[in-house]
Amino acid sequence: MSQQGYVAAPPYSQAQAGMGGYSAGFGNPPPQSHYGAYGSPPQGYSAPPTGVLKPPASSSSGMPPPPVSSQYGANIQQNGAHHHSFPPPVASAPSMSPYGQPPQSAFYSMAQAPPPTQQLTNQMSAMNIGGYVGVFYTHALSAAPQQYHTSPPPAMGHPPLSPPGQQLSSFGSPPPMATMGSVAAPPMGMSGPPGPGVHQPPLGPQGYPQQPGPQMAGPQSGAFQGGFPGGPAQMAGPPQKKLDPDSIPSTTQVIEDDQAKRGGQVYVTNIRGQVPPLVTTDFTVQDQGNASPRFMRCTTYSFPSTADLAKQCKVPLAAIIKPFATVPKNETPLYIVNHGETGPIRCNRCKAYMCPYMQFMDGGRRYQCGFCSCVNEVPVQYFQHLDHMGRRMDLYERPELSLGSYEFIATLDYCKNNKPPNPPAYIFMIDVSYNNIKSGLVKLICEELKTLLDRLPKEEGAETSPIKVGFVTYNKILHFYNVKSALAQPQMMVVSDVAEMFVPLLDGFLVNFQESRAVVNNLLDQIPDMFADTNESETVFAPVIQAGVEALKAAECSGKLFIFHSSIPTAEAPGKLKNRDDRKLVGTEKEKTLFQPLRGVYEQLTKDCVAQGCCVDLFLFPNQYVDIATVGDVPSHTGGSIYKYSNFQVEVNGQQFVSDLRRDVEKSIGFDAIMRVRTGTGFRATDFFGAVYMNNTTDVEMAAVDCDKAVTVEFKHDDTLSEESGAVMQCALLYTTIGGQRRLRIHNLSLNCSSQLSELYKSCETDALINFFAKSAYRAMLNQPLKTVREILVNQTAHMLACYRKHCASPSAASQLILPDAMKVFPVYMNSLLKTPTLVGSTELSTDDRAFHRLLVNAMGVEETQVLLYPRLIPLHTMDVSSDAIPAPVRCSEERLSESGIFLLENGLSMFLWLGQACPPDLIQNLFNVPSLGHLSSEGMSLPVLDNAHSRKIHSIISSISQQRATSMKLLIVKQKDRSEMLFRQHLVEDKGLHGGASYMDFLCYVHREIRQLLT
Ligand SMILES: [Zn+2]
Repeated sequence: MSQQGYVAAPPYSQAQAGMGGYSAGFGNPPPQSHYGAYGSPPQGYSAPPTGVLKPPASSSSGMPPPPVSSQYGANIQQNGAHHHSFPPPVASAPSMSPYGQPPQSAFYSMAQAPPPTQQLTNQMSAMNIGGYVGVFYTHALSAAPQQYHTSPPPAMGHPPLSPPGQQLSSFGSPPPMATMGSVAAPPMGMSGPPGPGVHQPPLGPQGYPQQPGPQMAGPQSGAFQGGFPGGPAQMAGPPQKKLDPDSIPSTTQVIEDDQAKRGGQVYVTNIRGQVPPLVTTDFTVQDQGNASPRFMRCTTYSFPSTADLAKQCKVPLAAIIKPFATVPKNETPLYIVNHGETGPIRCNRCKAYMCPYMQFMDGGRRYQCGFCSCVNEVPVQYFQHLDHMGRRMDLYERPELSLGSYEFIATLDYCKNNKPPNPPAYIFMIDVSYNNIKSGLVKLICEELKTLLDRLPKEEGAETSPIKVGFVTYNKILHFYNVKSALAQPQMMVVSDVAEMFVPLLDGFLVNFQESRAVVNNLLDQIPDMFADTNESETVFAPVIQAGVEALKAAECSGKLFIFHSSIPTAEAPGKLKNRDDRKLVGTEKEKTLFQPLRGVYEQLTKDCVAQGCCVDLFLFPNQYVDIATVGDVPSHTGGSIYKYSNFQVEVNGQQFVSDLRRDVEKSIGFDAIMRVRTGTGFRATDFFGAVYMNNTTDVEMAAVDCDKAVTVEFKHDDTLSEESGAVMQCALLYTTIGGQRRLRIHNLSLNCSSQLSELYKSCETDALINFFAKSAYRAMLNQPLKTVREILVNQTAHMLACYRKHCASPSAASQLILPDAMKVFPVYMNSLLKTPTLVGSTELSTDDRAFHRLLVNAMGVEETQVLLYPRLIPLHTMDVSSDAIPAPVRCSEERLSESGIFLLENGLSMFLWLGQACPPDLIQNLFNVPSLGHLSSEGMSLPVLDNAHSRKIHSIISSISQQRATSMKLLIVKQKDRSEMLFRQHLVEDKGLHGGASYMDFLCYVHREIRQLLT
């Protein structure tokens, strides 16, 4: 594309000397390099170049005293009689442990640190830090002395050995709300029998909450139970610790509190560095100079002023940008600005676009750039007088002077070959091999398209869509269709030479659906019959994409390919694949190769697609391994989406697929996009994560970008930031509208800067942080062993929290875990991330599922990663059928389930209805129209629509949730203790993972111990 006038070489694009050590990022590092913020090795904390965790610079001074308001205080419950109980001994299977790793592992080695004391601390205290509340609980896990066996050290997957006689602590509850400072609660019963006889916990009945009562930890039990050897036996297994779960920070509480505090309000974006409401909160945005958080969210709204501070705290500085985010109907859509033939006004030096951060001077004749400080002449046609405040008189008449987000009409300089673009085209490419015909999929697609093509996206106010459509079917060979309106019948043209793909017809391939409706519908009627008797089971794949790109090239337009594909492409052709799903690699250094796409043909295809503005959406219907890592590679670099319906059956998944297809076809989208993020002096964008393609270090290319796609951008310092001017950023996205107009969408955001780390921690956004960590870890795992990636995540968590403790918190007992208020639920998200199928590394998980999950997350925005990593668990048995509201979710733990209850769980990708064994028969009758749970078969249950209040209410909740999500979720109904309950339980993220991974409580203990280690 022509980048004239758009891409300039800014003064910042060069890597600065001295930055090397800390800009390593995750891109293809040398074999030994480590992923991690600032490129330091995982263990680097102990010997960082600049002395991480210098003695605290008394930054806690100047903080207001605490109006303590711990939400954990209300629920004091002393579980004195309960001990930590640990999972039963596990025979083996360390390899399945997420933390199963050699003795040297940083993750485990921390656990061996001699504790400062053996005394069991059982106090709980609350303290207030700088006006925000720390979290406070005490436990004695860190008091693990030498008894932690080090030789041979158990892997995390093995329950480590517990020190004899050492009972592991309870978490107490914080003192009552008004209490300030550190208050010791009465000791809790840690009365484990001393001596070598360690305690064996009784197995909980089916893993459900234990009855209170003393429990013993088993000989192999340990302080931090990492792994969970999968299998139903274990599922029934280890009882949870009998600690008061209410004493640890609760995500549902944090969400509820924010909703109560900021829900229903108007969020006005006129204040620099203002932290927006949580993504889960329902609020309205009024743009007054900064982009809506729907478009941009940051990991912190106060950047540290120096690189040293950034390095010290290790909190990633990042923005998650969703340039096409859907704007609710009650908010103003973006204004479109036309600066005429000269194009948008830009800074001469850094090429930033006119925005509220430009400072006018000299009576309005010149302006100083808010990004690079260059002073520019105001073009004559743009001149305007200034008022007595030095503001332009037309400030409020010009969106680009007063708003955070707006669009410019781009001139021909911004177009390929200086020619206005043609409207884009959508090409539907249907795999008509045996499986897809037999399953009824081909018929379903053809039927659906007949109505769907009337709903192609339109320009505002237009009658019809300018998008052209084309059709291809394929198995080992490709069939193109001429559907020109003048024809009485569609014509098929076959290309069997898939090695040299070409498009056999130009005229009549891409048509306007309105004009060619009759011929197209005729074709769609015929396709299922044409291939009804096929025996062909082999398919090609790369040539299909190639054909699509060639067609768009020939038509000189951008567009999107909708590929409906079912099997691994084994037919003789470029991009032919073979099964490389070797589960023996799981847990080894080579595990990463399972997720690395095969390069070669696919790499070239990606380049071709991006150059042409050809986005690839892939709908997969696999019955077995299809190598998603490879077939998903082109979609995941072209702004495309990937959908997967395993073992597709029309009756089972048909509706879900059709909903996804409709939404995908209809959604708002821009084509042939290139994005650039400019920043103020002192920092710059260094890394980008998303369904994007990077040809150089600064231009983010997207063949298309739709309302669901988010790009996560990491920033690094290259100089000191000024506290006075703050940190400003401008995201400029050049794209082609569906009508073929070239436009620039601009999002501006200004953050604060501070030399006080307490400001940074106060302004953190946990949901944005976890989005960054998820994407960066999922990229890092392509180059490093998963074990290393997991270790780095854990270490960085401990570092961030230790730094807070050291530099920002008031002095307090070492036994207290103190978390920044804005990050108090960060550990539960981090632990959940570590347990995701992609990162957990279990041979029981399908490689394709893991690769699929990896690619999905890569394109996600903050809202999607939030609910994915902390699903909503909604009790339905207690709901008020007369209210419209969705009942308040409870914490994602089996302890919150009740046998007499019914719960809905959703994470944006899956939805479950869980039926407790003892749920009331009248509720079952109302929902399923059967007299009792026993009358429901365990397989293939569905939720009928019945004419009663309960049924209506549940269906209304489900549909309201579905509307909030980017993909449609198939409702899976599970009965307590049925086999399928496993699928549900893996989403209870506060519990121990079914395939490995610690419970929230254990993870918090582990992190706490690491923090203490770091602080000593
Ligand atoms: Zn500038």
